[in-house]
Amino acid sequence: MIITIDGPAGSGKSTAARKLAARLEVPYLDTGAMYRAVACAVLRAKVDPDDATAVARIVSTIRLDLDCGPTHTRVRIDGHDVTEAIRTMPVSAATSRIAPQPEVRKRLVEDQRRIGAKLGSFVTEGRDQGSVVFPNADAKFVLYASVEKRAERRFQEMTADGEDVTLQDVKNNIAARDGVDAKQWAPLLEQDRATLLDTANMTIATVVDELMRELQTRGLLSDNP
Ligand code: C5P
Repeated sequence: MIITIDGPAGSGKSTAARKLAARLEVPYLDTGAMYRAVACAVLRAKVDPDDATAVARIVSTIRLDLDCGPTHTRVRIDGHDVTEAIRTMPVSAATSRIAPQPEVRKRLVEDQRRIGAKLGSFVTEGRDQGSVVFPNADAKFVLYASVEKRAERRFQEMTADGEDVTLQDVKNNIAARDGVDAKQWAPLLEQDRATLLDTANMTIATVVDELMRELQTRGLLSDNP
């Protein structure tokens, strides 16, 4: 069974995807971590993230390893663990600049399909998982919340991790990323191919309950009550 969860930064999709995967006892694929890892490699190589030729060279040569457990994703670039390093603001900002580049998307979409084929049953989370990468998924969700609410959530996460940021920085970063990212899940909504969930006033437990209820309604949980 393939379940896709797409949506903007701070919509709660990462936590929801992780918890849903744990409930279903299947692995979880964090595709944002893959784009972040490429951005991290680009910054470490002191390459300008807008230099598509140089970025393409990096993306064609790096080794990207993902360890997709049910509760965690560890990421390594060329053998170096970058799981924590990819969560900083400079990496987030560079990620939005490299993510639209065709060579980057081509490589990562291929990687995601290869990982998916190996995993079999899994929950995957990103922007284009239901629309582009796994169009034949069994269930597709798009999670949403207002920019204010999402910025507040991300700010709390980041300051809890010791990052030195202001709420306004986080809000600006999220708003800038929205414009680029939204193009990717829009087709899912236009064609009514995904279940849309507004998570603004929901706890994470409620979100996961809703996702489970939807899977149940679709008869996808018969072997996994
Ligand atoms: O989900 P997360 O915030 O970690 O993703 C970081 C960035 O990676 C997004 O803002 C987006 O630009 C890019 N991304 C993407 N396609 C995906 C996952 C992430 O373009 N499937």
